[in-house]
Amino acid sequence: MGVQYLSWDYNQMGVVATLNLSEPMNNVVAWQRFLPTGPVALLPLTDELSSLVWSTSIEHAKELLSISNESFVDALNDALWKKCPRDKIIDVATQRLDNLLESVFETSNAVRQLHPSISGVVEGSRAAFPLGFGHATCYVGKGVALVGDAAHRVHPLAGQGVNLGFGDVKCLSELLCEAVFNGSSLGNMSHLMKYETLRQRHNLPTMLATEGLQKLYGTTLTPVVVLRSLGLQLTHVLSPVKKMIMNYAAA
Ligand SMILES: Cc1cc2nc3c(=O)[nH]c(=O)nc-3n(C[C@H](O)[C@H](O)[C@H](O)COP(=O)(O)OP(=O)(O)OC[C@H]3O[C@@H](n4cnc5c(N)ncnc54)[C@H](O)[C@@H]3O)c2cc1C
Repeated sequence: MGVQYLSWDYNQMGVVATLNLSEPMNNVVAWQRFLPTGPVALLPLTDELSSLVWSTSIEHAKELLSISNESFVDALNDALWKKCPRDKIIDVATQRLDNLLESVFETSNAVRQLHPSISGVVEGSRAAFPLGFGHATCYVGKGVALVGDAAHRVHPLAGQGVNLGFGDVKCLSELLCEAVFNGSSLGNMSHLMKYETLRQRHNLPTMLATEGLQKLYGTTLTPVVVLRSLGLQLTHVLSPVKKMIMNYAAA
């Protein structure tokens, strides 16, 4: 199409796998833990299976693919459970914030949930993919439109990749239906341009927010860590803000 494509690599890979849970459960919650090397996420598949997305350095990803299933499960459980050494200032600051927010918003009754524990990995399900950011400056040309990852690629930490693509497909098919209904041709640029405008208006802020989160969680700088803990805890207790973010991400 000859469109410009802005892109960069994160120098990370996403290790994916299908995981067996230690025991069947009502598996409906997605979990993500932010490690200094990148986030590790468990996404529910069934009551007995979860899907793994583990973002890490290229070397570590290659190592995770080369080890036995048993060692892989051990490494994963370590990544999910092990207490990471943290700056004492961060521990004290987050504890004080917790106490403060608990007293202001009365959240102390909230039950702390634990993520499922992993007992195995489904044979042949392990793979790794390079992670990168990418965005086409134009989504459309004469008689052609880009959808999904062909138009935009994001870090998987916000789980938005597929949603953005589904949104493109929904928007484009609605506009093309409208074009046909009005007796216009499918390749008519005015419909295609409308698709591009509507989707870029949605995709770009989501991509920038995801990029911001990637940068925010990619640092161990104490003031940033304290501020992001405050932001996350505040978002958690301010239900309307949390709901607004969830609705936007699911749109
Ligand atoms: C490690 C990782 C974890 C992810 N986790 C999540 C997540 O938790 N949630 C989420 O929403 N998104 C996630 N994503 C993003 C998600 O996978 C993508 O956004 C989504 O798959 C994009 O779908 P797509 O159909 O646009 O492109 P693709 O899935 O890339 O499909 C394109 C297809 O076209 C084929 N193809 C390419 N060139 C040609 C050609 N010339 N001729 C014929 N066929 C061709 C390719 O082989 C491929 O099968 C993740 C991505 C990665 C890498």
